[in-house]
Amino acid sequence: MTDCIFCRIATGEIPAQIVARNDHALAFRDLNPQAPTHLLVIPAIHFDSAATATGAAGQRVLGEVMALGVEVAGSLGLDDAGYRFVMNTGRDGGQSVGHLHLHLLGGRQMHWPPG
Ligand code: AMP
Repeated sequence: MTDCIFCRIATGEIPAQIVARNDHALAFRDLNPQAPTHLLVIPAIHFDSAATATGAAGQRVLGEVMALGVEVAGSLGLDDAGYRFVMNTGRDGGQSVGHLHLHLLGGRQMHWPPG
């Protein structure tokens, strides 16, 4: 989608600090970090949110995004201390960008419940 900011990051049209990418997904630093490590992992193709990632294609995309998140967390040395994945979905979920994305947060103690 040409008007989607994360699609434009995926194609390189908009710059981002990309940490990892493969044929299916990419991970880049969040512009407004909420933890010492705060990355976003997105599918290279557009899905509005987790709610639209249904069926075989949706399952594949969710797996690809999660798998890259796990890989990047390990490569950044977060496995021992741990980290948090967050996938805000829709209005009540607090999603502000309409392209499915996984937040990877690490480098500090996380709290529960989330706000
Ligand atoms: P969410 O509220 O779950 O939709 O998260 C969207 C995230 O995207 C927020 O944490 C923003 O800081 C982040 N964000 C928005 N635009 C950009 C951008 N151009 N590059 C990196 N992160 C961005």
